[in-house]
Amino acid sequence: MVSIRGGSQLPAICHHCGAATERLKKIHLVSEAQGTAMGPLMGRLIGYFIPFLGLFHRLESHGKSVELQLKLPTCARCARRVRDVAPRYIDFEEQRIDLIVHAEFKKALEDG
Ligand SMILES: [Zn+2]
Repeated sequence: MVSIRGGSQLPAICHHCGAATERLKKIHLVSEAQGTAMGPLMGRLIGYFIPFLGLFHRLESHGKSVELQLKLPTCARCARRVRDVAPRYIDFEEQRIDLIVHAEFKKALEDG
């Protein structure tokens, strides 16, 4: 499993099978205000920001949905087979996605 940050450079390797590919699969993630991923995060943020004057502005902005877009290298074969990519964890605050990927993809990502 790897953590992918929004805007980071990804290797030209299929995330699913490890084959070299130039194809990118666009993945659109939208947070839900009551979503399970946001639950513990909301609790932490509320506790953290209460002493500050910016509280209400912060809470308002967190009440809206947050969108992340990720272009994940996916070869033609896997693009047909893998319809939906389901990340293990999405951190909309940090723009970070934890995803199960092929060992080759992980290696290339870590080597830069
Ligand atoms: Zn593939």
